Amino acid sequence: MISLKNIKFWIFDLDNTLYSSTTNIFSKIDKKMCQFIIDELRVDEPEALKIKNKYFHEHGTTLNGLMKKHNINAERFLEFVHDIDYSFLNKNEKLNYELKKLPGSKIIFTNGSKKHAETTILKLGIKDNFSGIFDIVDSDYIPKPDIAPYKKLISKYRINCSESIFFEDIAKNLLPAHKLGIKTAWIENDDKYCKEGFDGYHVDFRVKNLTKFLEDINKKVA
Ligand SMILES: [Mg+2]
Repeated sequence: MISLKNIKFWIFDLDNTLYSSTTNIFSKIDKKMCQFIIDELRVDEPEALKIKNKYFHEHGTTLNGLMKKHNINAERFLEFVHDIDYSFLNKNEKLNYELKKLPGSKIIFTNGSKKHAETTILKLGIKDNFSGIFDIVDSDYIPKPDIAPYKKLISKYRINCSESIFFEDIAKNLLPAHKLGIKTAWIENDDKYCKEGFDGYHVDFRVKNLTKFLEDINKKVA
């Protein structure tokens, strides 16, 4: 078992990591992306869905594909797709408690926007824990799993890789982190795309329930 005693940097993906995929918040964003494509590219819904998925798989994010293929304005896209109803996201006091107890700094690393991350962690009641949000703009619109944003994140927050761990629901996004010497934790889920390679050598931990996992760490490091 790899020890987490020396961890000083706790890096978290946002969507479907800091809140459960069962909240369906991401499916709302997904719908908005489809609507954006319908409006912008003047296509019908089935076609928009096809484009959205194709760009996501080929370019890492739908936005990246839209920027490359259609010269879409990124800010306008991010503003539109994150204009959703967050009211169903509830406070997670237990998660907040465990995050607070973790020694060191906590950073969010997301392919989404800063505003979306801020709204989400505010709704979850965990906002105060984080010293930074590294978003897709900070990543120069180059999404995970390209290694470039990982390197930029490390340099911006002066992260010592051997003292850090990254939590993510998309297993292949853990590979660059592993290559850089960051410990990796995969948030278990049943999505076919997210699962890809979850049993690979680059995944150090499998996490069924993030709060419970952090609770166990806190017990050990205490
Ligand atoms: Mg995610």
